[in-house]
Amino acid sequence: LSPPRDRLRIAIQKSGRLAEPARALLASCGLSWRESRDRLFCYGETLAVDLLLVRDDDIPGLIAEGVCDLGIVGRNVLLEQAHDRERGGRPPAFREWRALGFGGCRLALAVPEDWAWEGPAQLRGKRIATSYPALLAAWLRERAVEAEVVVLSGSVEIAPRLGQADAVCDLVSTGSTLAANQLKPVATLLESEAVLAGPVQPLEDARGELADLLLRRLEGALRIRR
Ligand code: ATP
Ligand code: ZN
Repeated sequence: LSPPRDRLRIAIQKSGRLAEPARALLASCGLSWRESRDRLFCYGETLAVDLLLVRDDDIPGLIAEGVCDLGIVGRNVLLEQAHDRERGGRPPAFREWRALGFGGCRLALAVPEDWAWEGPAQLRGKRIATSYPALLAAWLRERAVEAEVVVLSGSVEIAPRLGQADAVCDLVSTGSTLAANQLKPVATLLESEAVLAGPVQPLEDARGELADLLLRRLEGALRIRR
């Protein structure tokens, strides 16, 4: 699949928390689309800006491979995959272009409610469950804490109750899921929101001009919202 040169292709989440707000924001920039029958591809009508509807986790990789030019994804996913590439010795292939003001949450470290929290050193030798191993490992390394990172793709908050872990590192918005599992947040690793992600270098040719136009319209649309 080689990328089109004269049309801009943006990857957004197909379903989930960011799917509707991402489309609504792009629509407020004057974009409209004709949907394909499989609902995976939306052909831009008012501008040559197409959408690809995917899992959020696939978005950084699609940008890295040049399959998509831009994407709308949580900063948490983008930074996790950036750290993972760095750990694997691969060069940066995507970066945050602009924060978009929705999908706000934080990546937090949480411990059982009955722990008297004294600081990161208390995690030494403990098991911490997370879906963000690269971000957690970087945070622990900066604090010179050696702990075991247990990678889970979902249901992270129940890991302590199941005896799989002592603490968790997970996304939190209201904190009600943590409380329901007798956990309390004790540190914030990352403040996150949805961002426009793109390649490290600016886009060239017609796609560069389309991206500039889109950024100007986003600027206007986000200013009105504030
Ligand atoms: P997909 O099927 O695309 O992989 P997902 O289940 O990984 O979806 P969602 O739960 O829809 O993803 O979350 C998408 C993004 O929404 C998160 O990566 C995060 O940036 C943001 N978000 C905002 N609040 C929360 C929250 N309370 N819990 C989880 N994610 C949140
Ligand atoms: Zn996902």
